[in-house]
Parts: sequence; structure tokens; C-alpha cells
Amino acid sequence: MHHNFTIGRIAGIRISFNWSWLIVFALIVWSLESNVFPAQDPGLSTSTYVIMALIAAIVFFASILLHELGHSIVARRNGMEIEGITLWLFGGVAQFKDSFKSPGAEFRIGTAGPAVSFVLGGAFVGLAFLPIGSTPVTGTLFWLGYINLFLLVFNLLPALPLDGGRVLRSALWKAKGDFAWATRISASFGRGFGYLMIGGGVVLFITYGSVSGIWLALIGWFLLGAAGNETRFLRAREALEGLCVRDVMTREPVTAPADETLGEFIDTLAGWARHSAYPVVSNGDVLGLLPFRTIAHHPRSEWEARLVRDSMLTKDQVPVLDSEDSAEEALNELMGGEIHCGLVLHDGELVGFLSFSDLARVLSQRDSFRR
Ligand SMILES: [Zn+2]
Repeated sequence: MHHNFTIGRIAGIRISFNWSWLIVFALIVWSLESNVFPAQDPGLSTSTYVIMALIAAIVFFASILLHELGHSIVARRNGMEIEGITLWLFGGVAQFKDSFKSPGAEFRIGTAGPAVSFVLGGAFVGLAFLPIGSTPVTGTLFWLGYINLFLLVFNLLPALPLDGGRVLRSALWKAKGDFAWATRISASFGRGFGYLMIGGGVVLFITYGSVSGIWLALIGWFLLGAAGNETRFLRAREALEGLCVRDVMTREPVTAPADETLGEFIDTLAGWARHSAYPVVSNGDVLGLLPFRTIAHHPRSEWEARLVRDSMLTKDQVPVLDSEDSAEEALNELMGGEIHCGLVLHDGELVGFLSFSDLARVLSQRDSFRR
């Protein structure tokens, strides 16, 4: 995901947020302050509603963060590496670096987040019923309890990649011992719920002019895409099984000399296959990677004056793989980066170049063998 800002680390887990999160934060504050709280607790002043809305929105996002931390901490205890937590448009996503070790592990990881939401929701509702706070305090607590419990129910829908979908997959996986089959079934539930939400949202919007209809349809659309990603990723993993980077990379890639100008380099390229990026070398050392789109980005008139080394991405800005790494690991690595390609080194020497198109080629070949 692009355009993420890192805000810090909790228990060593990187916490970032996507720019879309700022829009949602503003929308939530606005709808709480202008609609939800005035309807729930009438007769308070506008400034009270604004303060209630701000506090509620901040604590709501803290709740989402705690939910994701629940997943992440249990995941780490079950031997998984955590990439980080990203807050975005529809809440939080904990990114795992590798795959689930067993049905039991996936079950524990999948239920840890909802367990946190359950505890938070129960605690907020409980506090709201204590006869201590003033109306604004009780009102804010009540909404926080309600929204956490709503989040709990929504996340427990048996639709991959929602938590309930993970629970469903772990149960199916356990029952039949077939991870791929379990993924296909749970992801098809994900798609089913996606279509249902889009349909329901559109009907709500057309019949009642309800804005929540648009939200529902958007969430359905997101679910549809995410369920599709789960099956695509599964197919990729299956196809790459047992292969290492050496088997799938482009060997002896076309390299760009660091001290040539872009113009000189482009001239020597004539007749070569066009790649998405070129490893940059100088006296046998690998310095970085020159993506083709960077060349195209500079106007032609600048090509003669610009050196390759001034236009490249340096080695620490791009994925660097070892030719002995597993292809599956490489796929994870390339997916995490901004540019979907990387340098392949062995003992410090350049031995190849790996891009998404190399992996895609392997995937389509293996797919056609299977048919
Ligand atoms: Zn969750």
C-alpha cells in the first residue's frame, strides 16, 4: 500500500496510517458531532458535541489499533513475523510476513482481535451504565461500546479475509487437512458477502437515500477485492512451491553503467528487450536499480545531461534478494515494496534480476501444465 505514514512502534510492531484514514477520521468526527450525538443526547451545546466527537473518534481508532495489536501479538507468539499495522479507510490491517503455520495458529490469531473488541465493547457499555458520569461522558462511552460491539459482529462474518473468514478457514483446514480447498471455500463466502453488501447498499441508497448505503456498498466492494486477492495469492503460492529465486529470475540482466548518461544508455538499449528496470553497475559493483519509468519520467531533452547514477534508486531503496531464497519469500518481498522488482545477488555479486513479470510468467506456465 502506498502513501503510508509511520507514526511509531508498539511492542516492536510498526504502526502506520494511510492518508485515506485522515478523511475517515474527519467524516466520523463530523457525523458524530452533527448527527449521532445530538440525536442520542439532545440539548447539549455544540462545543460539547464537538469535544465528545473528537474524543470518541480518537478512542475508536485506538480500539481498532488494539484489535489489530491483538492479532499481531498472538501471531508473533505463534511463530509469525509481523510486517506492521496499517490504519486505512476501513479500519486496520495487520500485515504478516509469512503464512499461517497450522489451523490452530490461524484460529488463535483470527480470534484474538475479536476477543479484544469484545472486552473493549463490554467495558465501555459497562462504564456507561455506572451512575457516575455526566451525560456527555456516558453518551461517549455508550457510543464507544456500541461501535466496538458492531465491529466485533462485522468482523465475525464468515467471509475471508475478515476474522470470521479466518476462523471458518481454520476449521475447514483442520477438518480436511487441505489449506487450498479451505481458502477457496472461505474466499467464495467473502465474495458472496461482498456482492450482498454492494446490492444491499445500492438498494438502501436508492430506496431511502441513505448515505450508509454508500458505505455498505464500498465495504462490500473492498471485501470483493480482498477475497479475490486471497485466492490469487494462494494460486501464486501453489505455483511457486519448491522453487527458489535462481529458478525464476532473469539471468545476466541488461545492466546500466553508472557513469553513462541516460541518452547513451538508451542508445545502447536499441534492439534489446525492454525491461521494467536495469541493475546499475560500476567497476563490477552493483550500486542500484534504474526503473524504466524513471527514464521515461525525465524529458528527452534532459537525457544527454543526466547520469544514470543520479537517476537510479540506490541498493537500500530496492528489494535485494539472494538467488537461494525461496520464490515464495521473494514474492512477499516484491509485494511489500514500491517498485515490484529487485536485484538478485549471491556472495555480493549480481547474478540476476527479478520482477513481477518473471513471477507471472512462471505462474502462467505452471497453471497451463496443471490443466
Ligand atoms: Zn481483526
